[in-house]
Amino acid sequence: MCSLFLDDIAEAASILDPLFGFSRYGESISATLPTFDLLAHQLQTRCSIFSRPSTGKRSPAEAGWLEQSVDAQISLHHPTHIAISIPFPGCLFGALRIAQRIRRINPAIRIAIGGGYVNTELRELKAPDIFDDVDAVMLDSGMLPLQRWLEHNDPTTLIRTFIRHQGQVLYMNTDALPVRHDALPPPVYDGLTLDRYIGLFEVLNPVTRLWTDGRWNKLMLAHGCWWHRCAFCDTQVDYICRYDPARPDTLCDWIETIIASTGYNGFHFVDEALPPSLVNGLCSEIRRRKLNVEWWGNIRYEKHFTPPLIAKMAQSGCIAVTGGFETCNDRTLALMNKGITVAEAKTVCASFAQAGILTHAYLMYGFPTQSFKETQKALETVRRMMHAGHLHSAFWHRFALTAHSEIARHPEPYNIHLKPEPVSDFARNEIPFDGEFDHDLDATGHALRTATYNYQHGIGLDRPAAEWFRSENVTMPRRMFRQGR
Ligand code: SF4
Repeated sequence: MCSLFLDDIAEAASILDPLFGFSRYGESISATLPTFDLLAHQLQTRCSIFSRPSTGKRSPAEAGWLEQSVDAQISLHHPTHIAISIPFPGCLFGALRIAQRIRRINPAIRIAIGGGYVNTELRELKAPDIFDDVDAVMLDSGMLPLQRWLEHNDPTTLIRTFIRHQGQVLYMNTDALPVRHDALPPPVYDGLTLDRYIGLFEVLNPVTRLWTDGRWNKLMLAHGCWWHRCAFCDTQVDYICRYDPARPDTLCDWIETIIASTGYNGFHFVDEALPPSLVNGLCSEIRRRKLNVEWWGNIRYEKHFTPPLIAKMAQSGCIAVTGGFETCNDRTLALMNKGITVAEAKTVCASFAQAGILTHAYLMYGFPTQSFKETQKALETVRRMMHAGHLHSAFWHRFALTAHSEIARHPEPYNIHLKPEPVSDFARNEIPFDGEFDHDLDATGHALRTATYNYQHGIGLDRPAAEWFRSENVTMPRRMFRQGR
C-alpha cells in the first residue's frame, strides 16, 4: 500500500514536471538521440520545481530540487573531480543537469561520465557540445580510465576516454592491460545513507519485487559472459565479450568486507550470466566459511546446472535465478546461437523450482523468422511450466536489433533488411530494420504479456494458450507483414 501511495505522489509530481519519475527522469527525451542538439535544447529550456537549467539565457536564479541537492553535496565534500554513472537512458538528463550545476557553482571541478548507457550508446561519440557540460566520457570498465584521469593531467595518457581538444572530439586510448576482475577492490559504500533507501513493491511480478523491495549489495563473480555467443546480444562490447572471472576466495573476501561495512547480507550478483563452475566454487567457499548470505542472479538455463549443483546453491543462500528462455523454440534458439534447447532449459528450471529457488524467464517475440505458430507454442510451453510450478515469473520483450550484435554485422541468415540510419553524432544503439512476419507483432506482444500476467496470478493456467491470441484478435493474416522497428 505504501508503494501505491508513493506511486500516486509520483503521478501528481508528473503534473508539475512530465519528465518526473522515481528512477527515470526524462527517459522519454533520452530514449533515441542520434544527435546531441535534441538533448541540448531540452537541457537549456526545460524548467520545473525539480530541475532547472544552470546555463544559458534561460538559467533562473533559483535552483530546482535536484540542483539544491547538488549544491549541498558540493559544500559537504568539496570535490576536485566528480564521476557520474549513467546506467540507463532515464538517467542521462538528470546526470547532465547535475554536471551543468557543478560547472556553474565551481567550474574548476573536473567531471566525467561513464556507465552502461555510455558503454552501449556513446561508443561513436562525435558531438563536441557535450563537453560544455563534462570533461571526459569513459567507456567500459572504469577502474583504469578513472585512475589515469585522476592521477595525470596529460590527455595522451588517458584510457578509453573521449575528450574535446581544439573543438574536436578525440578518443584517447593508450595501450593498457585491463585490471583483472580478481584484482579489483570490493565496492565501497562509504558516505551513502543506506538506511534511508526505500523499498518499493509496485507490481506483483515476484522478480520485479526482488529488484525494488529491499536493498541488495551488488557484486559480479566475473566480468563479461562466459558464453558470449548469442547473436542478438552486444557480443562486440567489452562488458559481454571479455570474460574474466574472480576466484571464489576473492569473492568471499569481498562478501565479508561488504557485509561488515553495510550491515546487509543480501547480494545480487549482477553478472550477465553466472558461470556454473564458478558458482560451484563460490558455494563451496560460502559453506567453508559458514557465511550467512542470501543471493540471486542471472544464469543461462544450461545443463551444467545439475540437480546436485542446484541443491548446493540452495544450501548456500541462493533464493532466485533469472535467465533467458528467449524465443522458447529450438529452431530459433539454434539460429540465435543461444546454446540451450527448450527441453534442457525446462529440466534445469524445474530443478531450481524443486530446490525452492524462484525462477524467472526472459522471453522474446518478434525475433527474425519467428513464426506465429512458433510463438503460440512458446506461450503454451510457458503456460505448462507455470502450471507445473516450475516457472514463477516471466516477461516478454520484443526483439530489438542493436548495433553491437552479430545479427547487425551479418543480417543475411536472419532474413531482415537493415534500414538507413539517421546521421548521428551522439547515441547509437538500436538499428531500424524490416523483417517478414506472418503475424502482427504489436497484437502478439499484447496477447503474450496479458496471458503471462494472468498466469502469474494463477488465472487461465488450465486453458490452452492459443485462446489468448484469439481473444486479442491475433489471427493468421493472408499475407506476410513487413515489420520492424
Ligand atoms: S544473451 Fe546472455 S548468455 Fe547470451 S551472450 Fe548475452 S549475456 Fe551471454
